[in-house]
Amino acid sequence: GKRAFIAGVADDNGYGWAIAKSLAAAGAEILVGTWVPALNIFESSLRRGKFDESRKLQDGSLMEISKVYPLDAVYDNPEDVPEDVKTNKRYAGATNWTVQEVAESVKKDFGTIDILVHSLANGPEVSKPLSETSRKGYLAALSASSYSYISLVKHFLPIMNPGGSAISLTYIASERIIPGYGGGMSSAKAALESDTRVLAFEAGRKKRIRVNTISAGPLGSRAAKAIGF
Ligand code: NAD
Repeated sequence: GKRAFIAGVADDNGYGWAIAKSLAAAGAEILVGTWVPALNIFESSLRRGKFDESRKLQDGSLMEISKVYPLDAVYDNPEDVPEDVKTNKRYAGATNWTVQEVAESVKKDFGTIDILVHSLANGPEVSKPLSETSRKGYLAALSASSYSYISLVKHFLPIMNPGGSAISLTYIASERIIPGYGGGMSSAKAALESDTRVLAFEAGRKKRIRVNTISAGPLGSRAAKAIGF
């Protein structure tokens, strides 16, 4: 069977959860990466059976998640983490949640993976039009929504089996005007799409790994509702 690591699952409403279910139904073992500030509520909800109904697969069995890893994909290694984040109450309880450390933990726990899914995005100024977006907000959108894919591919590539596959989720606002998708999120998706072509070229030659992005339709996820979509 194949093993998948899905980054960006913190409830049962988003694309990450749905992709996890499809992969589980196809026989894959499921590992997820959950944003550190959302970790406690996600894990306790899982434990308390809050997701049992939506864990149901077509054959009646429940999707099993072999392990939930805390992850913050805007930090590549511990040296990148600023002091105020390190000591923040929402982060202090978890350990080894930078991209490099998560890849190391997955290697230690499971050895290799076959499928890497990037289902995460964040744009702190998404509700502002692009022309009113600050430099800081724009760079934060690209860090969380675009560079995070480069970082995940970079750090997981060494533990991916040849023939494996990486995917992310993009949005049509990269190529057409979608009012309301601001804060540099349209730019972030354009970067994600361009980076996908370059990463596919590099990972394909290096390790026979496919790299793709899927332009998804609108879904009432937590992220989408937060921006009034
Ligand atoms: P979602 O809220 O279910 O998923 C986004 C996840 O990203 C959340 O779990 C959040 O905790 C996580 N996250 C945010 N910042 C993070 C960080 N720094 N490190 C780790 N995790 C972080 O919402 P979704 O809509 O399913 O989003 C998944 C992907 O699908 C995103 O790339 C999004 O842009 C894309 N997408 C969504 C839609 C839509 O309409 N919902 C359409 C096209 C593309």
